[in-house]
Amino acid sequence: MGEGAPAEIQHLADCETCRAERGRLEEAFAAFRVSVHEWTDHERTSVAPPVLEPAIAPRLYVGSALRWSLLSAALAMAIIPVYRNAVEQQRQARAEEDAHLLEQVSDQLSRSMPRSIELLVNLLPEDKSTSEADIR
Ligand SMILES: [Zn+2]
Repeated sequence: MGEGAPAEIQHLADCETCRAERGRLEEAFAAFRVSVHEWTDHERTSVAPPVLEPAIAPRLYVGSALRWSLLSAALAMAIIPVYRNAVEQQRQARAEEDAHLLEQVSDQLSRSMPRSIELLVNLLPEDKSTSEADIR
């Protein structure tokens, strides 16, 4: 009774290979225990992830920057045609206004021009130099 365990212990005392093996296992277990302890300690102390933050922050910044540039590009693509259209409409309106104004001016001139002067102008010879010579 109870001779199984002492037999193993005896064997370890006699067999150097098993002693070395057992030593390596104990070292491995010790290292494992230490690493587990360190890991759990780390997990406990780093509830807020300060290691992940600097790695994620630049990616988020780049992501938001890209998003902003895409958004501004989309806005530009949406606004530029509207702006161009507005400018074109303004230009056309101004051109029409100018044409209308010129029409009004010529209309006003022709209307305000006394009929006598108009007749006189019509009577004047087309060549200005000869007319001046004639008047003189
Ligand atoms: Zn052995």
